[in-house]
Amino acid sequence: MVRICSFGAAGEVTGSMHIVQFDGKTLVLDCGLFQGKRAETEAKNREHNLPLDQVDALILSHAHIDHSGRLPRLVRDGYRKPIYATPATRDLCTVMLADSAHIQEEDTKFINKKKARNGELPIEPLYSQQDALNTIPLFRTISYCQAFEPVPGVIARFFEAGHMLGSAGVHLLIDRPGQRSLSLVYTGDVGRPRMPLLRDPAPLPDCDVLMTESTYGNRKTEDAGLAKQRLADVVLKTIERGGKVIVPAFSVGRTQVIVYYLNQLFNEGVLPKVPVYVDSPLSISTTEIFRLHPECYDSEARAFNQLIGGDIFGGDCCIYTRSVEESKRLNAIKDPCIILSASGMCETGRILHHLANNIGNHRNTILIVGFQAANTLGRRLVENARQVKIHGEPYEVKARVAVINGFSAHADQDELDDTVRPQAENCKTALLVHGEPDQQLAFAHRMHKMGFADVRLVERGQVVEV
Ligand SMILES: [Zn+2]
Repeated sequence: MVRICSFGAAGEVTGSMHIVQFDGKTLVLDCGLFQGKRAETEAKNREHNLPLDQVDALILSHAHIDHSGRLPRLVRDGYRKPIYATPATRDLCTVMLADSAHIQEEDTKFINKKKARNGELPIEPLYSQQDALNTIPLFRTISYCQAFEPVPGVIARFFEAGHMLGSAGVHLLIDRPGQRSLSLVYTGDVGRPRMPLLRDPAPLPDCDVLMTESTYGNRKTEDAGLAKQRLADVVLKTIERGGKVIVPAFSVGRTQVIVYYLNQLFNEGVLPKVPVYVDSPLSISTTEIFRLHPECYDSEARAFNQLIGGDIFGGDCCIYTRSVEESKRLNAIKDPCIILSASGMCETGRILHHLANNIGNHRNTILIVGFQAANTLGRRLVENARQVKIHGEPYEVKARVAVINGFSAHADQDELDDTVRPQAENCKTALLVHGEPDQQLAFAHRMHKMGFADVRLVERGQVVEV
């Protein structure tokens, strides 16, 4: 009997953590942070409910914080067993977990100041930078398709997920005495075909149990193949108006993809060369990791890498600004240029200064390339607000706002269907995780139609036996 239980990303899209138990052994798949409003996520992040003394190994699908961001908390609580991941995932985690720890520490300082004023006792951060540092030596790196044995009785392999650098699905073959092995596939986050830079997702291995993400189970997004042309159009029109393009972009993944495409468009002569400023310390650190892992690039990116002599994220137009002084100097630029900065939803960070400086000029474009959650400044811009508040001050939105959805790194409903359909006949149990219920219900309905016998929406803490 194999028991599966989700401790996160059950009926929601953050906090991924699933345990697989059999024959007295316990494997954990992913260890993500719950994200969203602090009041709702704080307790869930602190109380992971994992029987840590029983856990034999942890397998990490990719480095996004909603899949990796509770690792330092586990280590703080005493976890010392191996964490299996691809080499690129491990390297991205060195930067991203340290950054996450820094945010935790800063948040805690802010909260403790308030608590001190109210005469309340201070709280500890969820984890510290030291906890993040202590996590890294536990990683054991495994290349795609290479078999490994996380615990005796299980053969595991990573397969390409095409979602971010180093991202992988996990295939487990679990020994069952007297029967053939049970084949369990965990998709992690499913990427998209025709995404720039990354290989297309590999077909799922044949499986008895499929645990699949369902983020866009009921949503279509623009084809990834169209995004480059749309980017070229937006940038060219802005340059012709003599304006600047301001791109709020997440530091990991989206920024590198945009820089890569711009570099291609300059080289192809589609766009005149204008300076591209990447103004985010985290983006700079993660771009270094992208440069270290060309083994994760698709064939087009490898060919481009050779053509231009080795730096697809640089070129003579790209300027990376790390210090606050360098960032401030960008305010004085009058000529057309492109500025990429975080945060991707315009909630915090240096992007706010660039928006404040440029939002009032009709020549400029604010280019939205990622999902914008409700109640964020980014969402207000997408919804064509004519006036917004930045740092508490009102600003007229005179710049144009352009949206390109094709950069999404998650498979949309058609792509999810294509991913799971070949498993319909043989899969005995399909478990839907990492999705809001409305997205999951529509996907489950279509999976039934495809021929899946048993499709379940996983609830947090519920045990499924297979
Ligand atoms: Zn992800």
